[in-house]
Formats: sequence, structure tokens, C-alpha cells
Amino acid sequence: MTKQIQAIRGMNDCLPTESGVWQWVENTIREVVASYGYQELRTPIVESTDLFKRSIGEVTDIVEKEMYTFDDRNGDSLTLRPENTASCVRAGNEHGLIYNQQQRIWYMGPMFRHERPQKGRYRQFHQFGVETFGIQGPDIDAEVILLSARLWQRFAISEHLVLEINSLGSNQARADYKAALVEYLKQRKDKLDEDSLRRLESNPLRVLDSKNPDVQAAITDAPSLIDYLDPESAEHFSKLRERLDSFGIQYRVNPRLVRGLDYYNRTVFEWVTTSLGAQGTVCAGGRYDGLVEQLGGKSSPAVGFAMGIERLVLLIQTLELTSQVPDPINVYMTGLGEKAELWAGKLAEQIRDSLPKLRVQNHCGGGNLKKQMKRADKSGASIVLVIGDQEVEENQVQVKFMREQKPQELVSVDTLNEFLSQYFS
Ligand code: ATP
Ligand code: MG
Repeated sequence: MTKQIQAIRGMNDCLPTESGVWQWVENTIREVVASYGYQELRTPIVESTDLFKRSIGEVTDIVEKEMYTFDDRNGDSLTLRPENTASCVRAGNEHGLIYNQQQRIWYMGPMFRHERPQKGRYRQFHQFGVETFGIQGPDIDAEVILLSARLWQRFAISEHLVLEINSLGSNQARADYKAALVEYLKQRKDKLDEDSLRRLESNPLRVLDSKNPDVQAAITDAPSLIDYLDPESAEHFSKLRERLDSFGIQYRVNPRLVRGLDYYNRTVFEWVTTSLGAQGTVCAGGRYDGLVEQLGGKSSPAVGFAMGIERLVLLIQTLELTSQVPDPINVYMTGLGEKAELWAGKLAEQIRDSLPKLRVQNHCGGGNLKKQMKRADKSGASIVLVIGDQEVEENQVQVKFMREQKPQELVSVDTLNEFLSQYFS
């Protein structure tokens, strides 16, 4: 037998049994971002490698070891996007969307990182994110956090997510803090792992971000960034907290939160859950006021976040909340015999004309009532319309209720649309 070709490790198929949850999640996201007046920006999946090196930072997990980078046929170094903020800034600068303007944009799509595949961590994964440009105050930081909180509400997962926030301050504040942190870490070198020792030289803040529990234990009493904040950043942070308080958004200030990308300043935040094991961060973001200029544009403040759709879907599945997902099929049409089958087909088209949102499936391939009902049952439809010669004759259908203990009903074709629209309202 010929050997089957398999999908690439860490890159998943989204099967029909699962795509319903995905579509529901994606559609809900689209509704929520629209309700805040955000507009979509679609950028290419492949970009110049330099874009990510310059934005994410050379000494980050992503750039050091996770990017899918290759030379194309012209010898240009290209990279499958590992995240989308850099692309949004690139596109914004290129098309003059940012300078001297306010923008609120969102994106959704696949990202690529060569990581060790495990639950909640894949090599092709999907992010939804928002990016805002041109707004300096904490009002917009609060807005993007509120927007994410509204999503948790819509998915009914609010109680399973905790908001952690921190402020990284200005460049100067971070530099002062860095010096104190390095001093502290140097005294505990024997307790650091290889990665952290390397970071101690290249990017000491990232040691705080270590996923190694031993390293975390060794740095429990490390100096706190918050004590080094410049006055402006401290005020920004306290205004943000006041605003979150007044909207009733609960949060935990986590002075260890530094995020894995280099471009953040001031506000950083993560929404974390304890229900997904080690991969508990569902959404992460912050302010990146320097990035636009760093990528060649005129300086503009910016804040945004990205959330992992796989982790969101996993959380919804783990918490058994998929009953919120619309059924793939509402009505199953049977047709007993050639004449009834054709009539049922036409009736189905008429239902689709009048009730375009209803999901109607026709039985194909003939067979007796028992066989057709078996298929109907398997389809998951909540209503089956049974149609034989007599129903055709009398211009009516027999309605069987698949999810209720309710006797079947005869419904005239004249009132069928009304009946269905009421039943599924
Ligand atoms: P982590 O700490 O989990 O590695 P990160 O700091 O690398 O995350 P970001 O680059 O900020 O994450 O991406 C934002 C979100 O995208 C994460 O919180 C997570 O939900 C999701 N995400 C990141 N990497 C992956 C991946 N390899 N597979 C699935 N989801 C991912
Ligand atoms: Mg990562």
C-alpha cells in the first residue's frame, strides 16, 4: 500500500466536528470588535525576516529559536509570521494609517512558531488581536482590556480567567531596574538554569519570565519593577487601575509580568486560567509606544493584545461549554419514494428562501423510513420533516421532535415557515 502523507507536526486540521466551535468563537469575536468600532486589517502571512528581528527583538525565544525562516527563490530571507503586531505596524506605516491619526484595528489568522508541540502549544496556531494607534492615555489601555473581558462574558468563561497587570515604565526606569535586577541575579547564579544565565547577560528582564519553577523559586524576592517606575508611568498605571476599578474589572498586580517580546513599555497584561495546565495564558498584551518609530514610522503611541484561539477553544471545551455553539443542522428532510423525495427537495429550497439562517439538510440516497430516520438522528437535527406520498397529496408534513418527548405534529406547508421560525427563535 502507498504510504499516506501526514500533516506537519504541530500543525492541526480543524475537523468538521470542531469547526462549529471555531466558527462560533470567530463570529462572536467579529461581533464584539465591531461593537467597539474596530476595523479589520489583513496582512500577508509571509514578511521580510528583518521585520520580526527588528520588532520582537534578537534575544527573544521567538527570534532566537522559533521562527520559520527560509530564503525564497530570489534569495530574500522571508519568515512565516510568528505574531502579527509587527505586520500591523509595518502595514500601518506603509499605508500612512498611523501618523497623526487614531486607529483601532483587529486581525485574526494563523501564526507560526517552531516550538515543542503540546497541549495548547502548536507550530501553526491562530491568534485574534487588536492594535490601537495614536492614543496615549490609559483610557485606551482600559478599553482593550474591557473588550477582552466582554469576550469572556460572551463565551461564559469570565469566572475562569484572572487578569494580571503590570507596568514596565519608561526606558530609563527599565534601565535603572535592570541594573538592580542584574545585581540581585548575580548573587544567585548557582540557582539559575542555562537559559537564564544567558539572559542574565543579554536580556535580564526575561529571567523573570522563566517558565522553570526552580528559577521562579530562586527569584521570589527579586526587586520589583513597580518600585522603579518613573512618575509619568506610575500615574498612567494608577489611572488605569482606577478606570478598571470603576468598570468593575478585577485584576491582580503582578510585578513579575514582563512579557516575552521586547517592544513593550508601561502597561502589560495577561488573562490567565488555571484550567488548561501549563499553557494557561489565553490573552496577552500591552503598550508599545516605541515600536512604530523603531520600524521606521513617525513616533506614535500604541497598545494592543493577542489571544490564542486554540487555548480559547480548549478552555470552552474543557469547561463543557460547547452547548452554546449553534447546531450544524436544524431540520432534516426525509422523502419516502421518488415523488416525495423531489417534493421534499423543493420544499427545502423554499424554506431556505424564507428562512436563510436555518440549517436544512436533505436526505440523499433513498431507503425506507427506518433508514432515513437513522440518518436524521445521526445528523443532530432537532426536527425531522417526514414526507411521503400522502403528505405530498395533502400539502403537509409530519414534524418529529428529536430532542423532546413530544408527539409528532402535522403541519400544513402554508404555515410551515411560521412554525419553523417560531420553533427556532
Ligand atoms: P507563552 O508564554 O504561552 O509562550 P507567549 O508569551 O509566547 O506565550 P504571545 O507571543 O504574547 O505569547 O502570544 C499571545 C497568545 O498567543 C498567548 O497568550 C497564547 O494564548 C497564544 N500562543 C502563543 N504561542 C502559541 C503556540 N505556540 N500555540 C498556541 N497558542 C500560542
Ligand atoms: Mg512563547
